[in-house]
Order: sequence, then structure tokens, then C-alpha cells
Amino acid sequence: MYYCETNVFDKLFINSMGISEIKSQLTLKTVLDYYGLKPDKHLRLNCSFHPDKTPSLQVYYKTHTAYCFSSNCSTHGKSLDVIDFILHKESCSKHEAIEKAKQLITGEATATPIENLTRSAILTKMFIYFKNAIHNSKPAKEYLEERHLDFEKLKVGYNSGQFHHAGRFAKPDGADKAQLSSVESKKQAMIQSCLKVGLLLDQGKKSRTGEPAYQPFGKNGVVFPLKNAAGKVVSLYFRSIIDNSKIKHFYLKNRQGLYPCYPKTNTTKLILTEAIIDAATLLQQKQITDQYEILSLFGTNGLTEEHTKAIKNLTDLEEVIFFFDGDQAGKAAAKKYAEQLTTQHSGLKTSTVATPENEDVNSLLDSHSSEILTELLEQREVFSFSNEESPRPSVDSRPTAVGCGPLDFLKSPNVLQQLNERIGQCGIVGERQSRLLLFLLTLSYQNKRPLHGIVQGSSGSGKTHIISRIADLMPQEDVLRFTRITESSLYNWGEYDLF
Ligand SMILES: [Zn+2]
Repeated sequence: MYYCETNVFDKLFINSMGISEIKSQLTLKTVLDYYGLKPDKHLRLNCSFHPDKTPSLQVYYKTHTAYCFSSNCSTHGKSLDVIDFILHKESCSKHEAIEKAKQLITGEATATPIENLTRSAILTKMFIYFKNAIHNSKPAKEYLEERHLDFEKLKVGYNSGQFHHAGRFAKPDGADKAQLSSVESKKQAMIQSCLKVGLLLDQGKKSRTGEPAYQPFGKNGVVFPLKNAAGKVVSLYFRSIIDNSKIKHFYLKNRQGLYPCYPKTNTTKLILTEAIIDAATLLQQKQITDQYEILSLFGTNGLTEEHTKAIKNLTDLEEVIFFFDGDQAGKAAAKKYAEQLTTQHSGLKTSTVATPENEDVNSLLDSHSSEILTELLEQREVFSFSNEESPRPSVDSRPTAVGCGPLDFLKSPNVLQQLNERIGQCGIVGERQSRLLLFLLTLSYQNKRPLHGIVQGSSGSGKTHIISRIADLMPQEDVLRFTRITESSLYNWGEYDLF
């Protein structure tokens, strides 16, 4: 008896198929399914071949073709058949597209197209790019040297902000036309991916050639990866290397993951730092990493739920050591978090390193050799909460003292009044009524139906100032700033462009 798993004759037949035969056998639906694309009820899709927020690719199941209505699109003006669709999607030659089409007919095709990459895959790819970019950047190397950070030892990158311009993701050495269009669509795919994860921001600006001009996020920053429990890069942190920049720390939107990674499951001694650069500083010291696991918080208020959970899972954990800044904020945060962790883990020892006044882990190396870090660690002081008499504030003197988490804040009495105080503390002085009203109006962007506001007043009375200060309090990746727009610009924008 004789049988064969793949039908040899079928295969021979398919291999000899001409383009028209392929087209007659391969439905557009099969191609779209393969790429995980699902048209809406009007049979429209967000176009994969240009940055597209409102669906502009029309699908025609009768003719098995698709057409992009956007003039920004490299395919505009051309009806795409199944082979064209694959060609653009894969950024490949016509010949390769035909081969792929045959594989789709036989069901052999398996590759993952770039747009379907997960957040983690995109960020892993981009981090490799940033890491390689260090070698070409003098300012980045100088900055790291100044901060005593060794880019050969550490996983660190640099974002010059140029990544979306050049065709660096595919080099067109002596490329022909098909290859050039393949470079272009790879670039478009990369831009789409970066928009998706927030590495590029669409602030509605156009370049001189009329193409969308995207703003790179975390430009001129050294980059550190944040990883999830599986050790995959799921977020990035950028530290600006520009000396006089107002904002120095940037986290990609939807921050998640931990730096440098989740502590090993058998961790017994864990050092917590308040900044990523401090953790990176310790990671370079072998005598420290041999004995301790290191985990960075995101600032003195930055022990997140993810941190707490990760720490909770360390069943062998004996001691948590706080290596925070030698200032008031650092000391207070260490004490607060030590107490919190002690209540969560029965029997957990917590201790703190006495960082010298106004120094931090990293700045210590400005004037000391690295032994100082080990010495200070060895002299750490153990916290003791059990017999400490914590002075209780009298009931009415501090109405805010219920707790200090965001939920406690929201549950506190006179939350609006307290919010107003906080806004004042952020430097918006006076205008008590207006600042609160504007803040609440602005915050409503989180709702499905946001509120709108017009600020009126005589010129020079500080209208622009208060609006822009309130905008500073919002997540910056969600803020668009216009000085003026024409009547028709709102009409011309897509439905969701303003959100
Ligand atoms: Zn298009």
C-alpha cells in the first residue's frame, strides 16, 4: 500500500500555477484572515500601508480587491489584488508575493507580519535599535560616562529621536524600484508600530511635504528597558541627557514591567532604589549583585502594585534594603515603604542605608570609589516598627492623614478642596476657582463625552499661562497644544484625531 501526507500532484499543480490561476484560487478573505485583519461593517479597514487612524482601506469581496482612499498612502490610486496585498504587506518582491500566495492556498504560510507584532516584540526590536545607537552618539556616551555608567556592561540605549526618518530598518544599497517600495512599506510598518506603543506621537503636525510629522517620544534620552515577569521588554524609561530640560524622566504610556527585571524567585536579600539610574549603578558592582537582587522603584512615590506583587511572590525573601537618597523625601519614603512591606510579609526584615546628606547612589561615585557602596550597605540600619510609638495625629488637625494612596485621596472628605490645594502646590497660585474648574474640565478628556472650555479675559491677564500650566498637570502624551487653528482644520480631521 502507498500513501503520502502532502499530495504531490496538488503541489506540482500549484507550483505551475500562473498569476490568474492563483487569483482565482485565493480569496481576499483568506489573505485578510491570515494577517488578522477584520473589516468593519462597511467593509473598511485601517490601512496597513500608511498611518491610518480612520479606516480608509475599502475591501471588495466580489472582486477580491482592496482600495485605499487616502492620498497619503503609497498604494493610493491603485486597486490591490490578493498578490498586491501580500506584496505590500510583506514588503517583498512580486515573485516572493506569488510564492507566498501559493503557500496561502496550500496552507503552508506561517510568518508573522510586522504590524501584528506584540507590544513586547516592538519594544524589544526598538530597544536593540536604541542600544546600537549609543555607539554613534558622542553626547550619549559622554552623559553615561559622567554618570559612571558603563554601556558595555549595562543594558542601556539612546534615543536621538531620528529613528523614524531614515530607512535604517532596511538598507537600500543599490535597490531597484520594488526594493525601494519594500523599504518604504517597512518604514511605514515601523511607524505604525511605534505609534501603537507610544514611541511616536501624532500631534497633528505636517511636514513641509505634507506628510504627517510625528513627534518622537523620549527624544535625547538614554533608554532603559522595563521587563515583565517573563523577562520580556514591556516598557521603556527615558532619562533626558539635556542639562536644562525641565522634565527629565519619561515613561512610555501604559507603564508596566520592572527594572532591571523581576527579582529571581529564590531572592533572599533585595535592595530597592528610588531611581532606575541608581539601580543601574548598583548592577555594575559584582560584589553587590553576587549577594543581593536589585529592584528600582519609580521615584519616592513609585512603589507600584506591580512591585508589591512581585515582592510578595518571593517566598524566600528575608530582607528588603532601602538604598534611597540622603534627603528628607528619601528617608520618609524608605520608612513608609518599609512599614508597608513589613505588614505585608510577616517576619520580613527591613533596613535602610544611611546615604550621606544630599547624595544618592549614583552621585556617591562623583567623589568616591565604588567601595563606598559596599561599605554603606554593610553599615545599613535595621528598621524596627514593633515597639515604636507612632505618634497619632489628633483627629481634626490633619484630615488628610487617612492614608496616602490615590484611592484614599479620592475617598477623603472635601476632595475638591484638597485637589485645589494640590493644584496650588504644583505652582498655580491664585485663581482658585478658575484653576479647579479648568483642571476638572481638562480631566474630563478621560470620559467618553469630554467637556469643553473657553477661557475669556482681557489680554495679558494670564489666560494662556493658566491653560498651559493646567495642561502640564495632564499626562503629556495626551496633550496637544495649538496656538491657533483654522475653522476647517477641525472639519478635515478624522473622527478620532482629537482624542
Ligand atoms: Zn493606505
